[in-house]
Amino acid sequence: MKISLRKTSLVDYPGRVAGVLFFPGCTLRCPWCHNRDLVLGNDHLDFIFLDEALKHLEKRCAVLGGAVLSGGEPTLYEELPELIQRIKKLGLAVKIDTNGMEPAMLERLLDAEETAPDYIALDLKVAPWRYAFLGHTCEDPENMLAASAGLIRDAGIPHEFRTLVFPHKFVTPEDIESLAFLVDDAPWYFRIFRPGNCLDPAWNNLNAAEFRDAETLAKYAQALGKRGMCPL
Ligand code: SF4
Repeated sequence: MKISLRKTSLVDYPGRVAGVLFFPGCTLRCPWCHNRDLVLGNDHLDFIFLDEALKHLEKRCAVLGGAVLSGGEPTLYEELPELIQRIKKLGLAVKIDTNGMEPAMLERLLDAEETAPDYIALDLKVAPWRYAFLGHTCEDPENMLAASAGLIRDAGIPHEFRTLVFPHKFVTPEDIESLAFLVDDAPWYFRIFRPGNCLDPAWNNLNAAEFRDAETLAKYAQALGKRGMCPL
């Protein structure tokens, strides 16, 4: 299998220096997605074989504290439990970034200590009923998202929720209210959208969202009793 590797990142795993593995393919088609080649599964010059990435992690495991499995969507891969086991054996903590559309894989991972991630970031994009408009091959995205969020809340491992904020109020307080039942007392980060290489090129014509847009939604989440935050 081929993936894309960011050898070192200071921002993708809270509190750890990490290597980031980006997996191709996704069941959603968010128009703002910046990982166009990955999502469309286009082979790309910087793609390398998974074993090469593992060799890098092994070579740098004294410097790295963790590995982030991101995408695209990593939970689409049957090999994921074995991969996590191999990374953990290197002494690295594993974080998964997921869109929550594969609860069956999450359940498998969380079933055993050796395959359970050490940290999970779950994207909450829009109100659950609006996911149908993002879906590509995912059936019943609303229930998939709810199932994944429930598994993550019950797993007792560190996690966070993430929502992107747009300049044209694509995500509204009503979305936040509809998503809030999925969220526990873990941080819920509101980050701002920036145009550039979007999956739908029309989205490149939008301005970046403003910090105050993110602040408004984070405060709205706080008013609902959640830990809404907007990192700079
Ligand atoms: S879920 Fe993530 S990787 Fe998939 S299309 Fe949306 S933003 Fe891109």
